[in-house]
Amino acid sequence: MSSTKSTKALVIGAGPGGYACALRLAHHGIKPILVDKGALGGTCLNVGCIPSKAVITAAKLADKARHADVMGIHIGEVSVDLAALMKWKDDVVKKLVGGVAQLCKGTGVEVVAGRAAFRNKGEVEVFTDSGTVVIQAENIVIATGSVPIEIPGFKPDNERVVDSTGALALPALPGRMVVIGGGYIGLELGIAYAKLGTKVTVVEAMNQILPGFDPEIAKLLDRKLKKLGIDVFLKAKAKGWSEGNGEAIVGIEVDGQAKTLACDKILVTVGRRPFSTGLNLEGAGLKLNDRGFLAVDDKMRTAVAGIYAIGDVVGNPMLAHKAYREADVAADVIAGLPAAFDARCIPAVVFTDPEIATCGVMEHEAKAQGLDYKVGKFPFAALGRAMTAAETDGFCKAIIDARTEELLGVAVIGPNASDLIAEAALAIEMGAVFDDVALTIHAHPTLPEALKEAVLAAKGEALHALPSPAAVKG
Ligand code: FAD
Repeated sequence: MSSTKSTKALVIGAGPGGYACALRLAHHGIKPILVDKGALGGTCLNVGCIPSKAVITAAKLADKARHADVMGIHIGEVSVDLAALMKWKDDVVKKLVGGVAQLCKGTGVEVVAGRAAFRNKGEVEVFTDSGTVVIQAENIVIATGSVPIEIPGFKPDNERVVDSTGALALPALPGRMVVIGGGYIGLELGIAYAKLGTKVTVVEAMNQILPGFDPEIAKLLDRKLKKLGIDVFLKAKAKGWSEGNGEAIVGIEVDGQAKTLACDKILVTVGRRPFSTGLNLEGAGLKLNDRGFLAVDDKMRTAVAGIYAIGDVVGNPMLAHKAYREADVAADVIAGLPAAFDARCIPAVVFTDPEIATCGVMEHEAKAQGLDYKVGKFPFAALGRAMTAAETDGFCKAIIDARTEELLGVAVIGPNASDLIAEAALAIEMGAVFDDVALTIHAHPTLPEALKEAVLAAKGEALHALPSPAAVKG
């Protein structure tokens, strides 16, 4: 069966980019059509941000329970029922996906379930379970996201080899897991499984985990991984794997030396790539750039008039909150409002233990860029609230412009870094200077005091830390 529809705006892909764009269009009085070939919420809600954070939270609880003796709380042996954990996680996901469906219904967004492909620049064909729907649209927003990168020899089979999606749906706790890729997804999931009771080994090709992050932060996390019993091989390449005697044998090369690692599951997390397969972009006159992304301007417009693109498919960082902002911009531009993607910073959070969060320029980047900056660092070990939470690993680092004293960047490794970074993002976005943060009264005892102390430390004025000898005046 075939039918035809026409609309002012069609959004392809219902991840954080697509569904947010459709809702914003609806808020502007434009009733869009939202198409997805999978579940509403895309990667983030179904197989990404949300399920991973649910598993991480459960694993953290198990780990905390094991170490509660220090506070005089004796819990006894902690056992993990992975099937029950996964069911709880699935329920959380279901609620959120249901919430997106309700929002669409309540705001007048028409949802069409099916795979979309361009017929030409103003027409898209959607292949649904009951036939095809041809949609003519004045404006089309592409929000088709990304998928995990596969590496030769490690195709996910969901038996031995899994990607992040498979790792978030394991039926039972593996005894041993080799994680290939020490980026944020591999470390988040690796740490979670280690806390649940799996022996985890991380294989990373670069010379530090979390490539691109402040090396001081990566080093601290590396130490924490060791404490959690996680083995890490740096400058190591995974070469292939074979089935052994009831186990998988992973071949790796470390500094030119061959080595094997026996395990039960292999988790491949070597990054994600933009996804637009099957969209027939050529039919719309669109081309991908040499990295597979769709190029857009600051109004999220592609090279073809009337076609916009947002989210992971347009470039790094591949993060849900970047997609949310781009969604707003595309919807506003379609509605004829002045809008542009001009964020001063995009926070990045890694839900490891300790958590890591950065915003703006990191110290090694400031150095590489030759900026004239001052850095202040404050350890959580000196912060009352961190002590009362028994989470004193880590620090907050602030970078300020040496001349204007503008806050250029903040990097946190420590408890609730994911929450602490919001204040830094607001400060950087608003062009805050040293005094703006220093004169803001921070409630005590709270973790955000670490940010204030780090900013103060940049001028040797931290209250609860001794200044470096160079900063002592008089
Ligand atoms: P997606 O969420 O990928 O959605 C794209 C949608 O398009 C999908 O639903 C797909 O079915 C649909 N689609 C594709 N092609 C077609 C077609 N031809 N027709 C119809 N529909 C189509 N980000 C964070 O910010 N914080 C985190 O903590 C975080 N954790 C993550 C953990 C994991 C394990 C993973 C894998 C990712 C994580 N991310 C996180 C990244 C985040 O999920 C993505 O950045 C985000 O989902 C991108 O949103 P998007 O709308 O661009 O695309």
